[in-house]
Amino acid sequence: MCDRFIAEGYHVIAMDNLITGDLKNIEHLFRHEHFEYYHHDVTKFVHVPDRLDYILHFASPASPIDYLKIPIQTLKVGALGTHNLLGLAKEKKARILIASTSEVYGDPLVHPQTEEYYGNVNTIGPRGVYDEAKRFQESITMAYHRFHGLETRIVRIFNTYGPRMRLNDGRVIPAFMGQALRGEDLTVFGDGSQTRSFCYVDDQVEGIYRLLLSDYALPVNIGNPHEITIRDFAEEIIKLTGTDQKIVFKPLPKDDPMQRQPDITKAREILGWEPQVGREEGMKKTFDYFRTLSREDLERKEH
Ligand code: UDP
Repeated sequence: MCDRFIAEGYHVIAMDNLITGDLKNIEHLFRHEHFEYYHHDVTKFVHVPDRLDYILHFASPASPIDYLKIPIQTLKVGALGTHNLLGLAKEKKARILIASTSEVYGDPLVHPQTEEYYGNVNTIGPRGVYDEAKRFQESITMAYHRFHGLETRIVRIFNTYGPRMRLNDGRVIPAFMGQALRGEDLTVFGDGSQTRSFCYVDDQVEGIYRLLLSDYALPVNIGNPHEITIRDFAEEIIKLTGTDQKIVFKPLPKDDPMQRQPDITKAREILGWEPQVGREEGMKKTFDYFRTLSREDLERKEH
C-alpha cells in the first residue's frame, strides 16, 4: 500500500508497533522525501500534527497463530485502535478506510460469501478474538459514518499473499513454501478438503485503492474467487517448487472455516475491479521471493 501511494505522488505517513510487522518491508522507502515512519501503537492515543486526507487502518495481527498468541492485543487494536483512528479522521476531516476481513463471515453457511451475509462466528472460540474485533470495527465505523457523517470505507479482505509475507507467520502459503525450501513435508491440517481462494497482493492493493477513491461506504469484498482445496493446493506447491516432499496430515484447528470464496459482484460493478493475476503466476512470484531468503531466515522460528 505504501509503495502504491508513493507511486501515485502522495505523502505517506506509516505507523506500526511492529508486533507482527517488519521494518525490512518498508526500508527501501526511508530515503524517500515523501515517506515518514512513526513507531506507535494505535491502541494508545494517536497524534499526527500534519494535515491528513486519507487514513488507512490496517493495524492488526492477521494470522491465526499470531492472534492466538496475542489475543488481547488483537481485540484492542480492532476496538480501541479503530476508535482512536476514527477520532483522528473526525478531527482531521479525513476519509478513513478500515481493513476488515472474510473472517466476519466465520465458518460460512452461505457460499460464496456476499456482503449481505451476516456470518457464522463463534464468539467464544479461539478465532473469536479476531473475528469479533473486526465485526466491532465495522459497527463502530458505520456508527461514525451515520452519526458524525464521517467519510468511511470498509474492505473485507479475503486470503491474500505475495512477496514480503513473513515466512514464519503460520499462514498456509509461507508455511508450505518454507517447508518446501527446508526439505520438510507439507503439513495439511484436517483432511485438506477445506477451501480457500487466494488473491495476489497487487490485485488486493488495486482493489483497495479503487475503493478508497470511490464514494461507496458499505463493505466490499476484495479477493480472488478461484477456490481450491488445501490438499490440491499442497500438490500445486510441490509441483511449483520442484521438490519431492510428501503431504502429512495434522489436526484441523478449532473453528477453521471449511469453505471460503468471495462473491465479488459488488467490486466488479462499483469499482470496475477484478483480479488480474492467476494463482500460477502469483505463486511463482511469491516463490521467487522466498527463494531469496537466507538459510538463517528459513530456519528462524520466532518473529
Ligand atoms: N493450513 C494447513 N497447513 C498449514 C497452515 C494452514 O493446512 O501449515 C490450512 C488451515 O487449516 C486453513 C488454510 O490452510 O484451512 C488457510 O490457513 P491460513 O492460516 O493461511 O488462513 P485462514 O484462511 O485460515 O485465516
